[in-house]
Amino acid sequence: MKIDVLTIFPEMFNPVTTDSMLGRAVRKGILNIELTNIRDYTQDKHNRTDDYTFGGGGGMVMTADPVFRALHHIGAEGKKLIYMSPRGRILDESKVRELSELEEFVILCGHYEGVDQRILDYWNAEEISIGDYVLTGGELPAMVLIDSVARFVPGVLGNSNSVEDESVYSGLLEYPHYTQPREYEGMEVPEVLVSGNHKKIKLWRFRQSLLLTRERRPDLFEKFINETENLSREEKKILDEVLNG
Ligand code: SAM
Repeated sequence: MKIDVLTIFPEMFNPVTTDSMLGRAVRKGILNIELTNIRDYTQDKHNRTDDYTFGGGGGMVMTADPVFRALHHIGAEGKKLIYMSPRGRILDESKVRELSELEEFVILCGHYEGVDQRILDYWNAEEISIGDYVLTGGELPAMVLIDSVARFVPGVLGNSNSVEDESVYSGLLEYPHYTQPREYEGMEVPEVLVSGNHKKIKLWRFRQSLLLTRERRPDLFEKFINETENLSREEKKILDEVLNG
């Protein structure tokens, strides 16, 4: 997968593109993250990429010309352009999955009051937000988007099953995890997890996921209980017990 990122702070992406799982995916050539510094495309004699907003009200706006030039330079014509923006649709599992199906796309990171609207109109940009709060720039949101999408790209995670098991993706929040030692400060690991009985472990985890989701995310729980056709007989029994107990 190739992701082009247009930003005025390309160096902010260094840890994401070099460290941990994404860094490994980049080194293996599974993921290609191309950073383009918008400032390299300004024709302004002071190297500026922003100007005053028309209509007053204060605040600076990223100008169209350097962004247009950068987009033409990377060959963005016909490619999906995403503009990180608090005005956008909030990123969720279905959008992440949808983007992970693409072979390539382009992300534009805004700053100040945002970007000139004509960029978004001309390039038919899709605006995506990472939540109902405002950050100083689009770089952190872009990194959130890249990380979440990359996890679905085959080969990025060591074990491809792990995505499906995780919170939200399975329709439920994930069950609690425990590791060594078996007893810490008087607290024991639940007996079933060290029983070696994989079926019992799976059903215990399912029950924990149901209980957690009902408590913390009633919206997801409601959705889950209306789509139970893929549950096994034992899982249906546990769901009934949780619902009636
Ligand atoms: N004036 C804009 C508004 O009220 O919608 C906010 C601009 S914000 C200070 C600067 C840039 O940060 C935005 O152009 C966008 O690229 C990015 N940004 C800020 N919050 C974001 C969020 N929740 N999701 C995605 N991008 C965000």
